[in-house]
Amino acid sequence: MVVSSSVLSRFACLLVAVGAAGCAHTLVTFDPDGRPLLWQRLDQSVQVAEAAGLANVFTSTDLPQRTERRVGQLHIHADFPLAGQHRLIRELDNLRVSISQQLDLPISDEPIHLYLFADLEDYQGFVRRHFPQFPTRRACFVETDTTLAVFAAWQERIAEDLRHETTHGYLHAVVPGLPLWLDEGLAEFFELPEASVGLHERHAAHLAGRLLEGTWQPQLERLEALEDAAAMSQDHYAEAWCWVHWLLRTTPERRQLLERYLTDLRHDPITAPLSVRLREAEGPPTVTTAAIRQHLELAAAR
Ligand SMILES: [Zn+2]
Repeated sequence: MVVSSSVLSRFACLLVAVGAAGCAHTLVTFDPDGRPLLWQRLDQSVQVAEAAGLANVFTSTDLPQRTERRVGQLHIHADFPLAGQHRLIRELDNLRVSISQQLDLPISDEPIHLYLFADLEDYQGFVRRHFPQFPTRRACFVETDTTLAVFAAWQERIAEDLRHETTHGYLHAVVPGLPLWLDEGLAEFFELPEASVGLHERHAAHLAGRLLEGTWQPQLERLEALEDAAAMSQDHYAEAWCWVHWLLRTTPERRQLLERYLTDLRHDPITAPLSVRLREAEGPPTVTTAAIRQHLELAAAR
C-alpha cells in the first residue's frame, strides 16, 4: 500500500490482525480538526467515531501490566506471570537477528510492545473497547508514528501468531513503506518455527492443489496491485508466501534482488516494483511463472 505522508499524520495508525485467513489491515488517522477517521481496508472510507480513544490506548489502565519484561527490542506486558526466558520469548527475540540476516536489513532499537492477555475473552473485550470496529481476531498489530505494538491472547496458536505479528513489528521498524503483499508474504514466511526453514506446508499444498485443478496461476503483478487486505484471499496469502520463499530459498541472485528491493524501499517507498526488477533479471513473466510453478511442485512434494 502506498500512503502519502499527509495521510500518515501524527496520529496515523496501522492495524494488522491475524485471522483464520491471515491478516486484516486497517488504517486509522485523524482529520486536521482532530476528529477520528478510520479507513478500513476491509471497508474503505468508513468514518468511525469510536476510534477517538485510539490515541489514548497506550496509557489505558486496562492494558496488561502484571508482568513487565524487556528482551532485546521487545517490551512485554502480560496480565499473567511470564518469564523473560520463556522459550517463545527467546524465539521472538532471536527472530530479530534472523530477519535482519536473511533480508540484509539493519537492526532497530525501536521498542515493539507486546501486550499479552491470558484470557481470550479479556483480550476480545479490550479490542472491543479500544478498536470497536475491528473484526474479532486472536491478535493484532498496531502502528502509530511513535509506537509499534502487538496485542494477543495467550492461546493454542500463540507462537505462530506472535511470530507473525512480531515480524510485522521488526519489519515496520526499518522498512515503513513495505507493500501489503510483501509485508504479508514475509510475515507468513517468518511465522513458521525455525526448523521449517520457511517452508509453509499448508500454503504449498493449497497452491499445488489449485494448480492441479487448473484454477490458479501465479502472477506477481496481481499481488502488487493489492491495497486492501479484505481483498486478500487464502490464495493471495499463500502466493505471497510462495514468492518470498522462492526469492529467499533458490538462488543467491534472487535473494539479493529481494534485499536490494527492501533497501530501496527503506530510502524511498516509491521505487520500481519487484515485478519490474524480476523481468529485467529473469526474463518475461512467462519464464518467472514457470519457475514459480516448478518451485511450488517441488515444495509441495517434500
Ligand atoms: Zn499479517
